[in-house]
Amino acid sequence: MSDGYNLTQLKAGILPLSRAQEWEVARKEWKLVGISQADEPETCLCGHFPIIDLCTITNAITGNTVDVGNVCVKKFLGFRSDLIFASIKRIKRNPNKSIGPDAAVFFHRQGIINEWEYRFQQDTGRKRDLTAKQLATRHSINRKVLASIARRGIA
Ligand SMILES: [Zn+2]
Repeated sequence: MSDGYNLTQLKAGILPLSRAQEWEVARKEWKLVGISQADEPETCLCGHFPIIDLCTITNAITGNTVDVGNVCVKKFLGFRSDLIFASIKRIKRNPNKSIGPDAAVFFHRQGIINEWEYRFQQDTGRKRDLTAKQLATRHSINRKVLASIARRGIA
């Protein structure tokens, strides 16, 4: 495959870790459980190199966990992890911006932001002119999110 994302190779990596052996069923066993950014570029299960935006996925039935690249997660497994990474890039560039709704759902589910912060995010996510207090809360949410995806690798 010219774009470097090889579905056959991804299947060969994912299927042995899945219960179902039919791809269309097997891929539904997987869920997105973590987001991180690699210090050193890594290679995706599909063979694509380099990958920096990593998604940790777990098989709900076998309990197997594996990291794959953002593109494969979106393209082949159907999770919009790209929207989460877009949020991360946005708030890294400008801490006054807010994470998007997909990222808010994900980080709330991960327990990174609490119920109150999640609601705050829903209410103020699109606002540009926040009060000083609201802006401080947004910054605090952004810091939690960025800390949770802190680069991994050599500590
Ligand atoms: Zn891949």
